[in-house]
Amino acid sequence: MSWRATTISLFPEMFPGPLGHSLAGRALEEGIWSMDARNLRDHATGKHRNVDDAPFGGGAGMVLRADVIEAAVAEVADDRPVIVLTPRGVPLTQSRVSALAEGPGVILLCGRFEGIDQRVIEARDMTEISIGDYVLSGGESAALVLLDACIRLLPGVMGAAESGVEESFSAGLLEYPHYTRPADWCGRAVPEVLLSGNHAAIAAWRLEQATAITKQRRPELWAAHLSTNTVLQTKGSAS
Ligand code: SAH
Repeated sequence: MSWRATTISLFPEMFPGPLGHSLAGRALEEGIWSMDARNLRDHATGKHRNVDDAPFGGGAGMVLRADVIEAAVAEVADDRPVIVLTPRGVPLTQSRVSALAEGPGVILLCGRFEGIDQRVIEARDMTEISIGDYVLSGGESAALVLLDACIRLLPGVMGAAESGVEESFSAGLLEYPHYTRPADWCGRAVPEVLLSGNHAAIAAWRLEQATAITKQRRPELWAAHLSTNTVLQTKGSAS
């Protein structure tokens, strides 16, 4: 049974977009995942075929109507979680991504304008997810980001089994830097240890690099990494 992605948006032609290429594109052709891009406009109401209306309480912009969203969601709802892409959501993290990848798939609701009437989000118990602290013009590109992150984790999508294990975030650290040929490029040499063939020394150097970059760029990730490791050590010594 393949992992199922359904998107509900005003621009279904944006899907699968970049996910029709490379790793995700091949996996789509192989049936490892499937894509169903629905058009919110199909559920428009009234003689003007509206999907949005002015916000109660006033203010700029328009809000996507609860009745229109509900009609679109009801048509596809099943055992999959319904996710709203919104800057107000909980942050998309690698652990959230792997949990979603292990499930049956996702139904993604892409906002436009000011967003979606909150009542349908609550009535359907949707999960609100943000891809970062900035504002996009629509939820479609955020949905593509979420799908990309999930699809590469599906069994059979990535080549080497380990390529998903030893990378940024999987151990709570940012990844170490990479180098390839030529060993000398424009007078810049590759770090000596990488040419040594000493696997233990290479692993130690990589961990040291990952630690340094995480401390410097993402102090909050480093703090979380430290507290997780303390918990593990405490658990280990207790048993
Ligand atoms: N007025 C809203 C922003 C609306 S942006 C606010 O201030 O919160 C229009 C749509 O783009 C949103 O409904 C959402 O679906 C999408 N979007 C914008 N930024 C996003 C982000 N960081 N993560 C996920 N979706 C986002």
